[in-house]
Amino acid sequence: MHKPFSWRTLSTARTLFIMIFMAGIGLTVSVVALLYLSLHLISAKTNEIDEQRSALSVQGAVQTSINRMWGLVTDNAVWDDAVAQVYRPTLDTGWLFSAWGAGYKINNLYDGTFVLDENFHPLWGAFRSQPVAQPDVRFLGAGFQALLTQHRNALRDDKQIFAGITRTEAGIAIVGIGLIRPMSGRLQVNDATRRYLVITRHLNSEILRDLGNTFQINNLSWRNQRPDASSIALTSAAGETLGWLDWTPRQPGMQAAEAASDDITRIVALAAALIVLFITLSSVGLYKLARGEKLARELAMTDWLSHLPNRRALLERLEAVSESGSPEITCVVFIDLDGFKDVNDIYGHNVGDKLIVSIGSALRNLVPEGGMLARLGGDEFALTLGGEHAGEQAASFASAVLEYLNQPLRVGERTIHISASIGIAACSLVECNSSELFRRADIAMYHSKVTGKGRITHYDAELNNAREHQLNIENDIRDGLLRNEFDVWYQPIVDARTLATVGVEALVRWPRRPAGPLPPDQFIGIAETSGLIYALGQFVLRRACQDLLSLSDLKLSVNISPAQFRDPEFENKVAGVITGSGFPAHRLQLEVTETYVLENPDRARAAIVNLKGLGTAVALDDFGTGYSSIGYLRRFNFDTIKIDKSLAGLIDTDEQAAALVGGTIRIASALGMAVTAEGIENEKQMKLLRLAGCDQLQGYWFSEPMPIEDLRSLRQQHG
Ligand code: C2E
Ligand code: CA
Ligand code: CA
Repeated sequence: MHKPFSWRTLSTARTLFIMIFMAGIGLTVSVVALLYLSLHLISAKTNEIDEQRSALSVQGAVQTSINRMWGLVTDNAVWDDAVAQVYRPTLDTGWLFSAWGAGYKINNLYDGTFVLDENFHPLWGAFRSQPVAQPDVRFLGAGFQALLTQHRNALRDDKQIFAGITRTEAGIAIVGIGLIRPMSGRLQVNDATRRYLVITRHLNSEILRDLGNTFQINNLSWRNQRPDASSIALTSAAGETLGWLDWTPRQPGMQAAEAASDDITRIVALAAALIVLFITLSSVGLYKLARGEKLARELAMTDWLSHLPNRRALLERLEAVSESGSPEITCVVFIDLDGFKDVNDIYGHNVGDKLIVSIGSALRNLVPEGGMLARLGGDEFALTLGGEHAGEQAASFASAVLEYLNQPLRVGERTIHISASIGIAACSLVECNSSELFRRADIAMYHSKVTGKGRITHYDAELNNAREHQLNIENDIRDGLLRNEFDVWYQPIVDARTLATVGVEALVRWPRRPAGPLPPDQFIGIAETSGLIYALGQFVLRRACQDLLSLSDLKLSVNISPAQFRDPEFENKVAGVITGSGFPAHRLQLEVTETYVLENPDRARAAIVNLKGLGTAVALDDFGTGYSSIGYLRRFNFDTIKIDKSLAGLIDTDEQAAALVGGTIRIASALGMAVTAEGIENEKQMKLLRLAGCDQLQGYWFSEPMPIEDLRSLRQQHG
C-alpha cells in the first residue's frame, strides 16, 4: 500500500524536539550559571564583610596602642619620686636615665623618653637607651606639635594626659605626654615651673606583627604608598596622612566556596540529571504525539473502504511534486467504472462496496513502480506517476485495467460484468498545476464515457474544446429549462395499409435558445451525460401528454434515453405524469434504444414489465444500428420494433439491406411485435416497406415533425 506522505508531521516533531532540546541545554546552563554566580556573589560579599571587619580590627589595634601609650605615660608621670627629682633646679640625669632612659631595653614598651619644661622645651631626653645630648622638640614632629597646641591648657591646668600618632625624625611613632605630678595632693610649686614627661614608641615590623597576632590580622605591615586593597590610612594628631597599614585578607567567602564546591557540584549534577530526565520525558511524549498525529493523518489520507490513499492524499502528492519544481512529466490516469450505479441499484450497496474493494485491490497490483493509486470516491480511481517513462507506464497500466475488467468479476455468489472509462493526461507540473492536470484527465475520461465506454482516451487540446463546448451547452440546457426555451414537435406515424395517421412521435425542439436553435442530436447526448435528461425527458413527456390529450384517436410515442431508463424511480415518474395529465396509458408508447437494454438486461426487463403493468407500450427504437439480433431482443417483450432510417432508407438501393429488413419484419411479426419503419423519404421506399410487411410508416414522405398547432389544424382539415 502506498503510504501517504508524512514528512511534514515528522519535521514538525523534529523541530519541536530540537526546540525542547535547546531549551533543556539553555536551562542547564542557566541553572549552573545561577548556582555559580550566587556562590561567587555570596563569597565576594562575605569577603567584603570580612574586609570591613578586618579594617575595624586594625583601627582598633592602632587605638589600643594609643591607649597603652596613654596608660604608660600615666604610670610614669604620676609618680611621687619623679616629682621629687624633676622639679629640682638642676636635673639629676643619672636618676632620669636609670628610671626612664634604660627602661627601653627591659620591656620594649617604649623607645624614647623626654622631660619638657613649662614652655615645652626639652630639658632631658633618652632615645633607644642612649641619652640625647641636646634634645630638640622638633624631633617629635608635627603630630606631637599638634597635641601641644590643641591641649596646652588641659595639659597644664587639668593635668590631663594625651597620646597620638606623629612622625618623628626616627619614624612613625605613638607619642604620649603628661604633667609630672604626685600621686596624691597638689603639686608643690609656687611659680610657673612645670615638668612634662613625653614617651615615644616607634612602630616597627615586630610591633606590627605582635599587634597582628593579638588582633588576628595576617601580615600587618606598613606602607608609604597607598596599597590597592585591605588597608587603612594612619593619620597623625595633626591630621596629616602618614602612611597606610595593610594586611592579607583572609577571604573566608572563598574558603567557604571551596569547602562547599563539592556539594555544589553534586547539586549541579542533580539539576542536570533532572533536566535530562525532563527532556527525555518530553521527547517520549512528543514522539507519541507525533505518532498519533501521523496515524490521524494517515487515516485522513486513506479511503476507508478500499484502504487506498484517497483524493486528498493524491492531491498532496501532486502538490509536493509541484512544490519541488521538478520539470519532469507527471501523468494522471483517471478511471471511472461504467455501470457501477446499476450494480448498486440492482444488487444493493453491500455488493457494490465489495466490488469496489475487490477492484481496488486488483488495480493496486497493476500499479507501476513509483505510482500512487487512489480512490477518489464512488466508482472513481486515479493513478498518478512521474518520471521519464511515465507516459508509457500510464498507458500500459490503463490497458491492463481494461483487460482485467474484461473478464467477469465474482462478488460472493454473483458474477458481474463491469467496464471502465479511462482518461489519461500528462504534463509537467511546472507548466500546468495539479488541478488542471486532474481536470484534463477527467475530460479525457469523460470522452471515453460518451464515446462508448470501456475505452481509453488521451487528453488533447481538442478534447478540451469539445468539453468546454459541452459545459456551455449543459449550462444552456439548465437555463433553457428554467426559461421555457424548449418545445415539443410531433411527427405523424401512418398505418402502412390505409396510410392514415394513427400516431405521432414526440420530438424535442429548442427554438428559443439565445445562441441559436440546436437540433436534438447535438444536445440530447449532453443532457444524458450531465443528468439533465431527467428534467428534460420529464418535460417532454408531460408536455406531449398534455398536447395529445384531446387528439384522442392518435397514439403518442415518446423517446426515453438510457439514462432515464436507468433511474429506479422512472416507472413511478411515468405513472405520475399519466395520472397528472389524465392521458390514457394505453395510448402511450415509450421508445428505448438497445444500449441500455444490453447493458442491464435484468433491470431493463423489470422496467418493461412495470411499464406494461401501467398499460403503456414499449418500442425498441433505432433497430439496425446496434448489434443485437431480433432473437435476442424477443425476451424483452417489446410491443413494437422501429427500424432505423439508416437501414430502412436503404431498402430501395441496397439489396442486402432490403433482405435484412424483410427478414426482421417476418420474425418480428411471428413473435407478435409490430414493426414501424422510420425515415421514409420517397414513394419507392414507402412501397417496398409496405410490401415487406411493415405495420406503420414514418418519414418526411408523409410529414416532417411539426408544432402541436399545425398538427391540430391538419387534423381538422382531414376532419
Ligand atoms: P429518433 O428517435 O430516431 O427520431 C427520429 C428522427 O428522425 C428525428 O430527428 C426526425 O426528425 C428524423 N426524421 C424523421 N423522418 C425523417 C426522414 O424522412 N428523413 C430524415 N433524414 N430524418 C427523418 P430529430 O427530431 O432531429 O431527433 C433526433 C434524435 O434525437 C431522435 O432520433 C432521438 O433519438 C433524439 N430525440 C429527439 N427528441 C427526443 C426526446 O424528447 N427525448 C429523447 N430522449 N431523445 C429525443
Ligand atoms: Ca424515436
Ligand atoms: Ca430512430
